Amino acid sequence: MSNDPRKSATLPNSLWAATAPAAPACPPLAGDRSAELCVVGGGFTGLSAAYHAAQAGAEVVLVEAAEPGWGAAGRNGGQVIAGLKLDPDDLDRRFGEQRGRRLTDFAGSAPDLVFDLIAKHGIECDARRAGWVHAVHGRAALRLEEDRARQWQARGVALEMLDRQEVSALLGTDAYIAGLLDPRGGWLQPLAYARGLARAAQAAGATLHGRSPADHIDRSAGGWKVSTPSGSVTAKQVLICTNAYTNGLWPRLARSLIPVTSFQVATEPLSNELRARILPKGHVSSDTRRLLKYFCMTPEGRLVVGGRGNARESERRELYAHIVASLHSLYPRASGAKLEYFWSGRVALTLDHLPKIGELGPGIWSGGGYNGRGVAMATFSPRMRLRRVDLPTLGRPTTATKPARNGAAVFLVMR
Ligand SMILES: Cc1cc2nc3c(=O)[nH]c(=O)nc-3n(C[C@H](O)[C@H](O)[C@H](O)COP(=O)(O)OP(=O)(O)OC[C@H]3O[C@@H](n4cnc5c(N)ncnc54)[C@H](O)[C@@H]3O)c2cc1C
Repeated sequence: MSNDPRKSATLPNSLWAATAPAAPACPPLAGDRSAELCVVGGGFTGLSAAYHAAQAGAEVVLVEAAEPGWGAAGRNGGQVIAGLKLDPDDLDRRFGEQRGRRLTDFAGSAPDLVFDLIAKHGIECDARRAGWVHAVHGRAALRLEEDRARQWQARGVALEMLDRQEVSALLGTDAYIAGLLDPRGGWLQPLAYARGLARAAQAAGATLHGRSPADHIDRSAGGWKVSTPSGSVTAKQVLICTNAYTNGLWPRLARSLIPVTSFQVATEPLSNELRARILPKGHVSSDTRRLLKYFCMTPEGRLVVGGRGNARESERRELYAHIVASLHSLYPRASGAKLEYFWSGRVALTLDHLPKIGELGPGIWSGGGYNGRGVAMATFSPRMRLRRVDLPTLGRPTTATKPARNGAAVFLVMR
């Protein structure tokens, strides 16, 4: 399984690739053309950007090295999670109460946008909104979760602490001492959602090109020229959405992100008896460990468990041993189930746990680094039209995201 979409455009042999509706036609770019906005990368960030910009009337061309959803967007655990890794009080302390509040509101409402888009465009991706459970593995984590619940409750969000019995009943495992239930969360089939977003972007007027890797981006009279092997796009604005698959296209961008590999396994469909015990009400969950585990039950009754690993992306089975061990220790009753799918993908982490969303130069932007929460945040971050609003640049200024010229903050909020 390649981690470079320029070398192999084939999707991994994942459960999502096996069950998603067919991909929309996205022929390679042929020849030279111009547009108002050129989006590079067709994951959730790029597709949402293309959709919202086209909806707002902009002429948009998206170039994707492989096909929409080839990267993390089409490989992830499908968990729709509200909020950033940093808590509301942290954001207030870091950015001041007013701007911290706006960030908290944005990040908290990101799942609404996901489920609204799915409803509006009839995207067939098995979406459900039963809630996300942050499963607590120890006493220190419990104190943090209680504090987190308090912070969101103080801001009017009905998060609920679950005791040992309650979390055990919802997850169907005795592995956790407590849980934090967030009703804003949910699940979707990620590749199906990515393909649905691609179709929505096309219907809104955006042109999407697959198998069109951007090799370089140069200044040009009209703004920027994005060159691929089979053509180029000259555009006033460029948005780089290559996230953990960023290579040397814009070297400073790659240095602001830490790509890590996340592995998943999926069982065969489980018996009705097991399905009645494991995640019986459709919740999804990830735990509070630093190297977290995450798990869900699919509509056809397959248990999917994932977690990080040290190795590079690969389908070699021995690299999945720790995930299989997690599945067996969480759900010993399911340990006899055949494992039918093994796949992995790249997540972008950041040192300060904040996404990197900002301006790389005049008219050229990037969005990424969602720290494993990109299903909601990557959909939300490029809400379109490009404009400045009074929000902080997310994250400490890095080589990739620097404060705007006037000292005001830059955020890619496109309304
Ligand atoms: C295994 C796994 C499990 C995860 N689980 C969850 C979860 O349950 N919940 C959650 O919220 N988040 C999860 N994440 C994170 C989430 O998937 C990402 O945050 C999200 O997909 C980021 O979307 P993106 O569009 O920014 O990047 P990506 O989806 O990675 O898209 C980047 C795209 O850029 C393309 N590209 C790269 N270079 C070029 C180039 N030069 N020219 C053109 N195109 C290029 C790639 O082909 C790729 O399609 C998980 C990630 C992984 C890998």
